[in-house]
Amino acid sequence: MSAFDPDRIALNLANNFSDGVRVAGSGPGMPVLRPSDGRIHGELDCASADQVDAIVGNARSAFRRSGWAQADPRARMKVMRRWADLIEADAPLLAPLEAVGSTRTIGEILAWDLSYTAECLRFFAEFADKEGGAVLPTTPDKIGMTISEPYGVVAAIAPWNLPLVMAAWKIAPAIAAGNSVVLKPSEMTPFSVVRLAELAIEAGLPKGVFNIVQGDGATVGDPLCRHPAISKVSFTGSTRTGIAIMTACAQTGPKPVTLELGGKSPQIIFADAKDIAQSASIVARAIALNAGQVCVAGSRLLVQDRVMDEVIERITKSFEAHRIGPTWADDTTMGPIISEKQLAQIDGIVGRAISGGATVLTGGRRAPAPQEGSYYLPTVLTGLAQDSEAVQDEIFGPVLTVQSFSDEEEAYALANDSRYGLAAGVHTGDLNRALRATRALEAGTVWVNRYGRSNDFMLPTGGFKQSGIGKDLGREAYVANLKSKTALIQL
Ligand code: NAD
Repeated sequence: MSAFDPDRIALNLANNFSDGVRVAGSGPGMPVLRPSDGRIHGELDCASADQVDAIVGNARSAFRRSGWAQADPRARMKVMRRWADLIEADAPLLAPLEAVGSTRTIGEILAWDLSYTAECLRFFAEFADKEGGAVLPTTPDKIGMTISEPYGVVAAIAPWNLPLVMAAWKIAPAIAAGNSVVLKPSEMTPFSVVRLAELAIEAGLPKGVFNIVQGDGATVGDPLCRHPAISKVSFTGSTRTGIAIMTACAQTGPKPVTLELGGKSPQIIFADAKDIAQSASIVARAIALNAGQVCVAGSRLLVQDRVMDEVIERITKSFEAHRIGPTWADDTTMGPIISEKQLAQIDGIVGRAISGGATVLTGGRRAPAPQEGSYYLPTVLTGLAQDSEAVQDEIFGPVLTVQSFSDEEEAYALANDSRYGLAAGVHTGDLNRALRATRALEAGTVWVNRYGRSNDFMLPTGGFKQSGIGKDLGREAYVANLKSKTALIQL
């Protein structure tokens, strides 16, 4: 049994983190709601502008003086592995804390989020003694080399959809590479990451290496990015915010940015897929996960016309079988939408699609139960024009648009007709077609006969077009947290 009573989760009142301790924010307070029932979860103590400045300053001193950047790389690895162990051991406290304040169900967090967060730290820890530069060819009277060095203080800005996992993607490679980090979590899911910071100190991370500032984007995120002591910004969130952050980094740097942004990812089922039932089930899961609030949600289904009816029937049935409920219930298979505002956005796009002539095969409205909280029925829409809002815009909810195609060329044309390019899925039994699709699709990741990430951390993730710049995970993400110095030594 993993279910828990949400009213028993106690929150600490000081939620910024600097120099190894929790610090009360001196900015305005902000109520944080529980997505599952809309009740007040806690009051967030936001950082003031002066506090952002002071916390970045402390992080800068820690970068220079804590010894972390200069430590034996294997000593860094050891601390990060201990940190990962502590996260897993903290599941009785950390899992309910994450579930009560987010859209992730307690079952998902215990089965995946916590161990994935810990493994992410272990994975990047391994790079600490494996990437350092190179000796490069030159004439015998010289030695030419590159030396990899940490940037200094990295700002990490995270979204609300998977609070711990998204934070880990940012902080693990930056800290393993020797940087200090100032994390700004989403103001909607601010609490669980503070526990991560406490566990880092317990694991032996020097004070000031991992810090947290709390607040919204305009009053805390923007000044953080613009701070002169921030040397790099690593961001995950919407395309609109990514553009604002890149602008801020250009105006106050220029500083390097990694941007993991939105998506509108297609899933393509060809009639020659080996097992149509299995493909339909993969497609249904890929949009239902976290109620569609996943950057790589497979939100556009493209089906070859011959198998359209069978696929639609299976997906519709699977959607109608979901048990929609709070994140703290054992039997919930689809949790809430993060907020009423987000639900209104989803419902607005669906409503306009219906007014424009789309057909709702299932869902299409707010879930009738539970009464409290923001829940949306998993929805299938057909009869949409390619240039319609529902096909082109990221909905970030459990809404699947369905279009048919007759041949391969048309499938790729529809799939690529998007300003996003985060991920794509292809179902086919023909190896040549699978390889052609992998080449043809304009997406940072292409999954064939599956959809979604595995625990293969070496595989980088990131988007093309308006889905972003740079990569999370993989060697790329580690290297992106280092700058390369060139040395030429005359012998
Ligand atoms: P968001 O862009 O509204 O906010 C993300 C973070 O940026 C929050 O912490 C927010 O406070 C902060 N922020 C907002 N304005 C800012 C500013 N001007 N300067 C600095 N920080 C600012 O995104 P969201 O609603 O929290 O998350 C959902 C979005 O994230 C979706 O578009 C989703 O696709 C995307 N996402 C992408 C990935 C990926 O890997 N590509 C992963 C998860 C989520």
